[in-house]
Amino acid sequence: MNTMTPILPPAWLGIMGGGQLGRMFVHEAQSLGYKVCVLDPDELSPGGAVAEKHLCAHYTDTVALQAMADLCSAVSTEFENVPALTLDFFEDKNIYVAPASHCVSIAQHRALEKEFLGQCAAVSGIGPVPYEVISAGVTNASDFANLSSDLFPGILKTIRLGYDGKGQIRVETISDLEKAWASLGKESCVLEKRMLLDFEVSALVVRGHDGEMKAYPPAENIHRNGILHTSVVPSPSLKNKPELIEKITKAAFHIASEMNYVGVLCVEFFVLKDGSVFANEIAPRPHNSGHYTMDACVTSQFEQQVRSMARLPLGDVSLLEPVAMLNVLGDSWFKTTKQPIEQEPAWDRVLSYPSAKLHLYGKASPKQGRKMGHINCLGETAAEAIKTCAAVAADLGIEP
Ligand code: ADP
Ligand code: MG
Repeated sequence: MNTMTPILPPAWLGIMGGGQLGRMFVHEAQSLGYKVCVLDPDELSPGGAVAEKHLCAHYTDTVALQAMADLCSAVSTEFENVPALTLDFFEDKNIYVAPASHCVSIAQHRALEKEFLGQCAAVSGIGPVPYEVISAGVTNASDFANLSSDLFPGILKTIRLGYDGKGQIRVETISDLEKAWASLGKESCVLEKRMLLDFEVSALVVRGHDGEMKAYPPAENIHRNGILHTSVVPSPSLKNKPELIEKITKAAFHIASEMNYVGVLCVEFFVLKDGSVFANEIAPRPHNSGHYTMDACVTSQFEQQVRSMARLPLGDVSLLEPVAMLNVLGDSWFKTTKQPIEQEPAWDRVLSYPSAKLHLYGKASPKQGRKMGHINCLGETAAEAIKTCAAVAADLGIEP
């Protein structure tokens, strides 16, 4: 097949994973007239529930992969931890995979990711925070004495399968590090220097099959317990700092082109008080900090993912209105203090705000820390959007 030919509706698109990102991808693909096949081992997956076809099987189940290959013209993934051989399966069969397997494998391995970000720094001027790799079976706890004291206080992170702050332990000393590493089962990790952050921003870019690139306005992100809490656009801290916006956008473009990336890519950055910037991690997919695009931009990040994997021209990334996105976690279902009982949050209050757009993911059971939905609060200014966001958060019992 000519790899420049666009894939047009009503073709089938495949997506690995049916969590909330898969579900929102399905909605956008369907509204453009595509049919979607979701592969997810969870019978109740939010994405599987809304797709034309849900293959309920493991990601390495070759019968299911073949069924998807028979149906779909292009395949993408909602999460970076998809086994490498899964995407390879489609690439080997000449099914268009975006982002490609080699991009996903960098992002699913913290050490490779940091090494790659370090290489990109030669051009972009933005590298990873100081770190050291701790390799299972190679490193011994006795080697820790040789670590630079500059890495402390630090954060120990597992090389694989970390998300929402999971697989991370803060360490103050070498003896903390020994305990932390043992508690992570002595698997391969990176030890990162813990930086004193002024603020965090993410760059959301999209790159087409022909190398065309577009950048959404960066989002300013606040995390709580390692989980994204709010994203605000335009970023209040980047106000009057066009050179910094340009620097991080160029860095994200450089990262995308270096990987020959196709699709939506998010790059998380740390900004310190002295103005220095570090690249934290990359997500080879639409990202939680890009959910604001669903209501505040001409083209949402999910439509953009559809466009890029279908080899269509990219959509307009312009911001229509300032926005503050609030994540709704399962915690909002358990507000009673003494004996927590599950209770549906006050959606009537949330829905009483004309400029607050509620997105619920249809997950079967709320749990502490589980992402259940988000709310995009629009405003004439970022300050106004933040004000609405704070009011909505208060209505849901979310601490300011
Ligand atoms: P995840 O893959 O779970 O998103 P991250 O590495 O992005 O993991 O860490 C989650 C959050 O923890 C970051 O957004 C940031 O707030 C904080 N964090 C992570 N690494 C560092 C660091 N080296 N210094 C300071 N804060 C950090
Ligand atoms: Mg992160």
